[in-house]
Amino acid sequence: MNTDKKIVFNHFYQLRHDIKRSHILAPSFVDKKYASLVQPRWMSRIHPVYAMIFSFLSEPVSIPDLTKELSYFLEMPEEDVEALIKPFINNNEIAVTNYKGTVNYFPRNIVIEEGQLFGNSVHYTPQQFAYKEIDLTQERYYVAPASILFMVNNHCYTDCVYCYANKSVKATPLSFDKIKDIILQAKKWGVAVFTIVGGEVFLYKNWKELFDFLIENGYKESLVSTKVPLSEEDIITFEPYGIPIQISLDALDPEALKQILHVKSDYGEKIKQTISNIDKHGIDFQVATVLTKYNETIDNLKSLHDFLGQFKHLRRWEIRVGFKSLYSRGDFDRIKLSKERINDINQWVEEVKKTTSVNILWSMDTGEKYFKTEEGSRKFIGSRCSANYSNMVILPDGKVTICEQLYWNPRFIIGDVSKQSIEEVWNSSRALELAFPKREHFRDESVCKKCAIFDECLSFPNKCYADVLKGYGDKNWDYPDPRCVKAPQFINELQAV
Ligand code: SF4
Ligand code: SF4
Repeated sequence: MNTDKKIVFNHFYQLRHDIKRSHILAPSFVDKKYASLVQPRWMSRIHPVYAMIFSFLSEPVSIPDLTKELSYFLEMPEEDVEALIKPFINNNEIAVTNYKGTVNYFPRNIVIEEGQLFGNSVHYTPQQFAYKEIDLTQERYYVAPASILFMVNNHCYTDCVYCYANKSVKATPLSFDKIKDIILQAKKWGVAVFTIVGGEVFLYKNWKELFDFLIENGYKESLVSTKVPLSEEDIITFEPYGIPIQISLDALDPEALKQILHVKSDYGEKIKQTISNIDKHGIDFQVATVLTKYNETIDNLKSLHDFLGQFKHLRRWEIRVGFKSLYSRGDFDRIKLSKERINDINQWVEEVKKTTSVNILWSMDTGEKYFKTEEGSRKFIGSRCSANYSNMVILPDGKVTICEQLYWNPRFIIGDVSKQSIEEVWNSSRALELAFPKREHFRDESVCKKCAIFDECLSFPNKCYADVLKGYGDKNWDYPDPRCVKAPQFINELQAV
């Protein structure tokens, strides 16, 4: 260790106490120039002693001074203190430590040299992390969520055949003052990520003020998605926020767009112009294409590829197969792709990828993950569910649900931030009932009721209620996650197979 240089806690990360443990959390957005230094969206539970140690690094300090201070505070010889802090100084890899029987995970570069510091410093004190008991086992955050998703509205510019949104509820929106109050509460509780989604964020009348207020309070979006054709003036206003945009573009042909999105015939030209202007003003963007019967042809993909290939700031083109949503109108089978068609598209994508400069992300989800896992929710294939374990979703009128796909489904409403604080909602009886399910609440029809690993499985929050409801219907909410080997066959097919 170079003892001349001062070191400091990497304030990109945030320390937060949670009664019986502490957490290290990271925001979702990081400026490109720091991307290699940190791990956005990091979340881990740690023994509070580590948070106390890091509190001594709130401001830059030399290693000899830090060692002396910690030796006094921890009542430990200086050599032992040096060994304790060594794994965190400019750690290029995730650090794993053992402390009094607890295993602790730390993101890379948790402690850095003074000159590497970016962002605002926070002054922590060891007393903030005082504890009486230790619990690093419970997955769910005790006091408040780690992240919040706020849906600004539930109306859209388009009317897509594969619609994923519940637009039927006419919600009275929260006032902008209330939204600001919620953001300030989130900041107070150390919520690390505050994401805004629509409906359509750009149809929300206060979108500029909202971005300003979020940034003022340390929340920066990592992506904003839209289907709204934006004026050049709006793009110029948006550019300084430095937030990437995702534009949905399913086809270029006006007739196909009319069928898919129920838009006027000039929509295609307007959205193409939007993309050109986004690129012209140097905003990083990605494009998402959802495939249904109406745009499944290779010719459609070729024309999209040729169009997108001209842009400098296109970071990714994501092609997805449309999937059934809880709000799909009409008969989903009528618009879904056949397995043969998915295979054709797969072949085309693999071929194009060999030569193209466009970064194509192709999700060929054919349902492989379902009905496979024998060991319960910890081992389910796919991304981990954040619903009601680390995340809460605030609907436009202030009602709080556990997952954005569940919208106003009353079974999953855990509170209302127009009347309650974030902390009250997070600890409401409904939130806790859903988070810690009891066997006696399951019906005999559910295989979970008699499952030998019920406690082990359901103490690890990872059940996708959205998939359960899509596959088995609302009344069968207590059926297993369809990734479980014991899950019954779907009553309603989810996939394009
Ligand atoms: S049957 Fe239910 S409780 Fe048992 S492993 Fe499957 S999902 Fe978990
Ligand atoms: S319930 Fe399903 S859709 Fe909702 S957050 Fe969890 S995994 Fe995602």
